[in-house]
Amino acid sequence: MRSTDTIFALSSGALPSGVAVIRLSGATAFDICAGIAGRVPPTRQAQLMTLRDAEGVAIDQALVLAFAGPASFTGEDCVEFHLHGGRAVVRAMLDRLAGFPETRHAEAGEFSRRAFENGKLDLVEAEGLSDIIVAETEMQRRLAMEQTSGRLSGLYERWAGALTHARAMIEAELDFSDEEDVPGSVSTSIWQSVDGVAGEIRAHLAGLHTGEIIRDGYQVVIAGAPNAGKSSLLNALAKRDIAIVTDIAGTTRDILEVHLDIGGYAVRLYDTAGLRETEDKVEAEGVRRARALVETADLVLSLADMTGGDAPEAFPDRDCLLVGSKSDLSSGGDGFDLVLSSESGEGIDRLIAAISDRLSARVAGSSLSLPVRARQADYLRQALAALDEAMAARALSPELPSESLRRAAVALGRITGRVDVEDLLDVIFSSFCVGK
Ligand code: GDP
Repeated sequence: MRSTDTIFALSSGALPSGVAVIRLSGATAFDICAGIAGRVPPTRQAQLMTLRDAEGVAIDQALVLAFAGPASFTGEDCVEFHLHGGRAVVRAMLDRLAGFPETRHAEAGEFSRRAFENGKLDLVEAEGLSDIIVAETEMQRRLAMEQTSGRLSGLYERWAGALTHARAMIEAELDFSDEEDVPGSVSTSIWQSVDGVAGEIRAHLAGLHTGEIIRDGYQVVIAGAPNAGKSSLLNALAKRDIAIVTDIAGTTRDILEVHLDIGGYAVRLYDTAGLRETEDKVEAEGVRRARALVETADLVLSLADMTGGDAPEAFPDRDCLLVGSKSDLSSGGDGFDLVLSSESGEGIDRLIAAISDRLSARVAGSSLSLPVRARQADYLRQALAALDEAMAARALSPELPSESLRRAAVALGRITGRVDVEDLLDVIFSSFCVGK
């Protein structure tokens, strides 16, 4: 059941901080504001006010900003208190707010949830908003902006609208085929448009992995024999001592992960157990995990110690860079894409440039209108499956494709969370003059 409590929470980051923003939303937000600050400032105008506890003792001086619903983030009356970001100040203010009846601390995401329930945001926009908050790289930020901008939602709504229209035309043909005002056969152009939507969805879905790479990171796995220099390379790329480096073979038994920002893209770099046959059960499990990770990697850095004259393992079904390590101890480099030394730093920049090139080649030219979540992709696949069914059933009976088209439009509507209550007759009447 929907809660109508007035909710509040600290909306800014970790304390202490220069300023802390406490947000309050709900039917009694303005009354509470008047109770604490003496009055409600004119909406959308920041005013410096003294906030007081229940006994009238000052808690802090704060900028207070009021937004009257529905013109607020949640669609409800909202107040923001910009306090000094001291822990005791914030604690005192949160306690003060909790003292009002039917007022409670917000649950995670509850402001956004109310914004969604009040039609201020759809699900794609809300998900984009949560991505903006966690975005660490420039491309993650841009991708999240694309989701919150409403452009992606617009695309899904346009497809759903086209399918609803197609369905209305088919139903009209069924119901009113004996009426003169309905064109005898709308089928050809309708089915062309359905086919067009299916093609667009298919192309959009093909961008899923690109979306995932940008949002979740490009997975780069360092693989190679024990002592090839994998952990040293991870540390050199991370510019920190993440992995333990020793000359004892088989030290890295689990997978280590660091996050890098390469050219604005998030890169997840993994150090894995050295690939070798081993009797040691723990190490063998590490090797198994390393192989499994290689299977899903976007790019494998296949490392081989040049001093030992080893050849790097090729991973033919993976995008792979053959990297010669310990170039400070050995010259040459035949059979490698590049050579480097984690010790001296020589070649590290070349490797970063090479990773960046491979990554750019993978995502280049793609628009940022991409599905990025399994949830979105699942509904897109459902929609596509229903469209395929509709097209296959087309010759059999007109009712069958109509039902499949309905399911496809519903699946698309679920992506944004706004499954339209399709008013088929509206569409029919606006297109034809049936029943004049
Ligand atoms: P891993 O088993 O593949 O993770 O290899 P490590 O990174 O643990 O390195 C194995 C040994 O090689 C360690 O003694 C490192 O100090 C050494 N080593 C790694 N990279 C270099 C390098 O670029 N130059 C030199 N001289 N030694 C290196």
